[in-house]
Amino acid sequence: MADSRLARWRRERKARRARRARDAKRIRRLNRAIARRVRRLRERAARRRRRASDRLWGGSRAVTNEVIRIVAGRAPVTSRKRVATFGNPGSDHHVSQLTADAVDFGISNARGLADEISRRLGGPHDVVDFQHFIVRRNGRDFRVQIIAGPHGTGPHLHVGVRRV
Ligand SMILES: [Zn+2]
Repeated sequence: MADSRLARWRRERKARRARRARDAKRIRRLNRAIARRVRRLRERAARRRRRASDRLWGGSRAVTNEVIRIVAGRAPVTSRKRVATFGNPGSDHHVSQLTADAVDFGISNARGLADEISRRLGGPHDVVDFQHFIVRRNGRDFRVQIIAGPHGTGPHLHVGVRRV
């Protein structure tokens, strides 16, 4: 009698453990599926934000966004569109310039980075300060100007973009 009770208890324990293992597996699978879904939703939202942002300033922001991705955090973004003129209301930075956008990076005399940005946008391999070149994005042409040397508001790397 005692033997059969022990056998039954062992059987039940085995079943309980199997059930628990199955549940744990199911929960892990569910957690993975949830994580995948959240990741996909986040990516979709980021893409949507990017597309919306790319349409700003006559589409020029698509190019400055691309420049920021190229720089990839190697220098901080110190200015983009602004209301301050700093004596130059015609600047690509100024909000009155509706089809232009600009981005400054806090880094001085970054010639190598300037060349890399130009090259990766499809411009000249060795870019000269104040030189203009044209890139085509989303069916539109934009003129790009990169300035690495001393100019304007203290040492910085300037990239100006204007739809043409
Ligand atoms: Zn600038």
